[in-house]
Amino acid sequence: MSFVDGPTLAVVVDSSRLAAGIVDRDGEVLIRDRVGTPNRDVWRSLERLVRRVMAAKPGEIHMPVAVGVSSIGSLDLQAGSVTPETMAAWSSFPIVQHLESLTGLPVALDSAAGAAAEAERWVGEAVGLPSYLTLLLDQTIESACIINDVRLRGAHGNGGSLAHLAVDPDGFPCGCGAIGCLNMYASAAAIEAEINRPLRRAPDSVVERTGIMVGRAIASAAAVFDLTTVFISGSVVDTFGDSMLDSMRREIGLRSNLDNLSDLSVREPSGLIQPLVGAAAISRFMDPYAPPATAR
Ligand SMILES: [Zn+2]
Repeated sequence: MSFVDGPTLAVVVDSSRLAAGIVDRDGEVLIRDRVGTPNRDVWRSLERLVRRVMAAKPGEIHMPVAVGVSSIGSLDLQAGSVTPETMAAWSSFPIVQHLESLTGLPVALDSAAGAAAEAERWVGEAVGLPSYLTLLLDQTIESACIINDVRLRGAHGNGGSLAHLAVDPDGFPCGCGAIGCLNMYASAAAIEAEINRPLRRAPDSVVERTGIMVGRAIASAAAVFDLTTVFISGSVVDTFGDSMLDSMRREIGLRSNLDNLSDLSVREPSGLIQPLVGAAAISRFMDPYAPPATAR
């Protein structure tokens, strides 16, 4: 059952843009606004954006009763903080506390992929689907997993993340300190840094290698979690297209011979759900009448 019985203020923190909007309880976006993510003073830009959206609220729309915020990067749900890898200005940034102070509303935080996974079972293709993995290949790699209708969160909120799964034991060093993480082969940021040109001009060998590494990660995750469905999307998938997906499927075929993985389906969601709807989906089950966490 859903606790939140009113519109949600949805906030999205991404490498390239910040978005805010008001989303009703059926998942319809009533108001939306966005700005490019600045290199510094990110909070000041986000604060202005949220104020603008709250002020733009026409009379017939009810006040939001809760805030859902999705962010790229690693989370600490206990601290309510985020550390986006591509955003040097924010390291353990306490975004929950800042949004609670700004709006006076309870705030629910989740990762970008967590939001996408929640949206998929709210208004998307995972309605009624008990177990699946959502994998976003964008500037960074984001993923989240729902098993038997339970969202895997882990101790800090990063459960189901494949970004730092080792896919090449003798591979590239990763910013996390390990070697051969998926992040170094399948995130737009790492690929562009390696080839020193935009993603769309990547050589075929890099496109194929990306598919192989993503295939290895998915095959491992599918075996660990006994998955039958993986939703894959993001700018790397859009840009590399079928060449990458074909090499990914070949690699998965080579590595997924267990009987329980014979019907593993890896597909792009047919309808892309707006990130603001994902952010709103995060707050669906919170109790809006509880005081903000920082006021307790
Ligand atoms: Zn790593």
